[in-house]
Amino acid sequence: MKKTTLMLSLIAAMAVSNTSFSQTDNGLLQAAQKKKADLVNDLGRLVNIDSGTDDAKGLGQVEAVLAQRLKELGAQVEIVAAPPAAGKMVIGTVAGSGSKNIMLMIHYDTVFGIGEAARRPFKVSGNKAYGPGVADAKGGALIILYALDLIRERGFREFKTLTVLFNPDEEKSSLGSRDMIRKLSADQDYVLVFEPPEADRVTVGTNGIAYVYLSVKGLASHAGSAPEAGRNAAVELSNQIMQLKDLGSPAKGTTVNWTVIQAGDRVNIIPEKASATADMRMSDLSEIERVQQDANRIVLKKFIPETEVSVKVENRRPPFSKNAASDELAATADRIYQELGKNIQPVVMRYGTDAGFAYNPNTGKPVVLDGMGIVGDRIHSADEWADLDSVVPRLYLTVRMIESMSKAGSK
Ligand SMILES: [Zn+2]
Repeated sequence: MKKTTLMLSLIAAMAVSNTSFSQTDNGLLQAAQKKKADLVNDLGRLVNIDSGTDDAKGLGQVEAVLAQRLKELGAQVEIVAAPPAAGKMVIGTVAGSGSKNIMLMIHYDTVFGIGEAARRPFKVSGNKAYGPGVADAKGGALIILYALDLIRERGFREFKTLTVLFNPDEEKSSLGSRDMIRKLSADQDYVLVFEPPEADRVTVGTNGIAYVYLSVKGLASHAGSAPEAGRNAAVELSNQIMQLKDLGSPAKGTTVNWTVIQAGDRVNIIPEKASATADMRMSDLSEIERVQQDANRIVLKKFIPETEVSVKVENRRPPFSKNAASDELAATADRIYQELGKNIQPVVMRYGTDAGFAYNPNTGKPVVLDGMGIVGDRIHSADEWADLDSVVPRLYLTVRMIESMSKAGSK
């Protein structure tokens, strides 16, 4: 190859690679940087209010702050009760001039009890912030509010509607808010969920959660004077747990683990009743039916024939199954991060989130992406932290995602 040809092909290669990187939106980057100090202040304010899932008073205080902020951002705000949840849902809507419906959602309850925030209040050390719920998910709630503020400042209105949902009961399976999540999601083109990622990642799949309930009915009798007249439910339960310990499927990524066992309350009585509960995780919803059928067949084989054994699989939270449209949205997130000289990795998480209620595997709509919140780790523990260096990139990402999704398909 001659030198000139080599040079030309090098120039051609550079031109191609240049087109795959977009310019940084410096105006947006600077605007996001200006918001950071206020966002961190607000994070301290929210973290210092206890809002455990059963804490109606604390949840009410956080709800008031979130609703007020949404109103200030020009949203129509509705507060909706979510029985049996102690807290309420905060729903904000902003109307635009485009064709896409986009929802941003996250929970504002935490796993912590009353007094936790007073014991270990919000604290910043270096680039990390600490405190109950700092990453999961008060950081995510503020990324949503400040991204909306940036969108408003930019005068961007090319969406049809922007809907914000803050729910109060995610940490207890969203029993009171799941119907609303499904209902609102059915009208959306896109749903972004702001759970905390552990690094520069977004979540393209989460596991579903089910409980498996096993119960045994035997016959009570005095353990000292007439044990042979009893039918020991605890012994039969032990037999069943041994038989049912491999209900999971490594090939399908389904796990079933027996975690809670109860039997008997008096040492001198053969127990009449015994029960156990298993934690089940799956990425394929049909595994619920498969596990139920396998379990039904297995429990017929008893160690003590005169006992009654029943098993029931209860769907607690459907999976957000990995799908092509979410992968594509994650690729968009990566392209936007490249504008900042960074990359974003799509990951599948083993835990369950509200993305499972937003995503409908039958229609494939809306397109869902999770892990859009503030970067953090050690969630549900006293060491939970949020990475304050992620605030600016995550605000930039959210705003650019909203702009990109609004314009999708209308090139
Ligand atoms: Zn969470």
